[in-house]
Amino acid sequence: MSAERKTLDERQQMTELERLRHSCAHVMATAILRIWPDAQFAYGPPIETGFYYDFEMAHRITPDDFEKIEAEMKKISKENQKFERRVLTREEAKAMAESGRLGGLSERPGNPSRFKLDLIDKIPEGEEISCFQNGEFIDLCAGPHVGYSGKCKNVKLMSVSSSFYLGDESKGQLQRLYGTAFESKELLEEHLNRLEEAKKRDHRRLGRELQLFHIDEAVGQGLILWKPKGALVRRSLQDFITKELDKQGYSQVFTPHIGKLDLYRTSGHFPYYQESQYPPIAERDVLEKLSDENATCGQLLNGLSDGTYEGYMLKPMNCPHHIKIYASQHHSYRDLPVRLAEFGTVYRWEQSGELGGMTRVRGFTQDDAHLFCTPDQVAAEVQGCLELVKKVLGTLGMNDYRVRLSLRDPDSTKYVGSPENWDKAEAALRAAVQTLGVEYSEEPGEAAFYGPKIDFVVKDVIGREWQLGTVQVDYNLPERFKLEYVGADNQTHRPVMIHRAPFGSLERFTGLLIEHFEGKFPTWLAPEQVRVLPISEKTLEAAEAVTAKLADAGVRVTIDRDSDKIGAKIRLARLDRVPYMLVLGQKEVDEGTVSVRHRDREDLGARSVEQFIADVTEEIAERRL
Ligand SMILES: [Zn+2]
Ligand SMILES: [Zn+2]
Repeated sequence: MSAERKTLDERQQMTELERLRHSCAHVMATAILRIWPDAQFAYGPPIETGFYYDFEMAHRITPDDFEKIEAEMKKISKENQKFERRVLTREEAKAMAESGRLGGLSERPGNPSRFKLDLIDKIPEGEEISCFQNGEFIDLCAGPHVGYSGKCKNVKLMSVSSSFYLGDESKGQLQRLYGTAFESKELLEEHLNRLEEAKKRDHRRLGRELQLFHIDEAVGQGLILWKPKGALVRRSLQDFITKELDKQGYSQVFTPHIGKLDLYRTSGHFPYYQESQYPPIAERDVLEKLSDENATCGQLLNGLSDGTYEGYMLKPMNCPHHIKIYASQHHSYRDLPVRLAEFGTVYRWEQSGELGGMTRVRGFTQDDAHLFCTPDQVAAEVQGCLELVKKVLGTLGMNDYRVRLSLRDPDSTKYVGSPENWDKAEAALRAAVQTLGVEYSEEPGEAAFYGPKIDFVVKDVIGREWQLGTVQVDYNLPERFKLEYVGADNQTHRPVMIHRAPFGSLERFTGLLIEHFEGKFPTWLAPEQVRVLPISEKTLEAAEAVTAKLADAGVRVTIDRDSDKIGAKIRLARLDRVPYMLVLGQKEVDEGTVSVRHRDREDLGARSVEQFIADVTEEIAERRL
């Protein structure tokens, strides 16, 4: 919402940086008014990455105008205008808005400012109404602002788009101009460099250039097609995670992509959360019967929802299937914990506007697992989950991450599970997080009604934060599905369930890895680990033999058979981010060596084929960075 409408409490919480950015928005408005005096400003709050202002005027701003506006902003900053606050009565405010001086020029009244009249109406009776003036610009504003416009000098305009007044389409289209500002020139430059760097690393572009994945309109938005090279990255990652899960005593399972509606009625996923799921699929004979009766679509959907007709759903999560595997046999406390793991593909309905690349999709594969254990085992199991995350992230060189611990609200009674078990689980999660030795924050009241949880937030090489997956304790589903085990006391008990998908989904995680490594995957993850480059036709045969030897040793190797010059072949291999290039000329063939080049290191010199194979297979086996 607009900065103007924030409560006093929220305003006082505006950080120094937000105050600066909001002041820059006023300076930007002043500059625009000097160039286009007909502009009428609506509102201009600070945002996470800077600020914007929404306004209406005849001229449509394009990026070509940015330089001109920035130059005017510089002048205004040099003028060091004072930001002056004035309290207005409702009548004064209305009169100023009527004459177009609020959200416009103070001296040259224009048309009535319809936005300001509307905003004034929205201010509750009894709340103070104030305006801020800097130079010739005056706006309805609660502040706060910096003292003088001299501080607003490290500014950059970023982009322009269209918007609606308070998001309401019926109120007509406005222009929204975004900018960013920092306390110092250095911080601004750092931010702009980071944006540049992020653009260079964009996984959507790299995914296309490196042939990793494809999204096809004919298949559907948000549905990732993993191309052979992307699939190799995913397979290497999956193999690595699977090996670690094997070590930790997980059992791998496979389950289908659909399940009966009744299953999701028991779990509580249906008919709740319908807006985030694909619509249910009816049984074939139901459809046939209904088409005979000329029933409507609405009747069908209602019948599916209330259970009159049988139907299926694309699974929005894997838990119910895993629960049914657990429940398919008798369990004694001696079998616990049961750890069922699956790279399980789930389908969720995301608004099409939210889709893009691998980070927001409609079908994705979770690195999912469900642990069924006794209340006493929760601590050790959560600890195990965290160790796995630490190992995987450490191997990928991501050692900068933090953890959020969501706990229950001590004053609320909405939670399922006994308070003793909650105490125990929360203490277990806290202890596990502490042994990780990373930064963490406790967030009381943020837990789901069915259990406390841990979330991971990873920082990539350029300092951006990515929210990954969770470890979630659950007292609810074991109850709903009436899960049991026989305890040492020979009585039946309810197990506790832990859901964990620490990397979220393979799609999102791979998107993150592409950006983190800028497509330069470490050798063990690289889809193509080595490329053999014969210098000419004459050494092609020997190059084929070297390629075969490497393939035999399990290395992902290709050969460049083109007749291009060697320089061009090296350039292409670098562009494809292949870690190692083996150049083969007559000299190397005669000596039984290869000339080794790394994509971003110096020429590594000649090595015997056997030595290179030993080196590279060791590097892959150790998953070196
Ligand atoms: Zn303001
Ligand atoms: Zn689950």
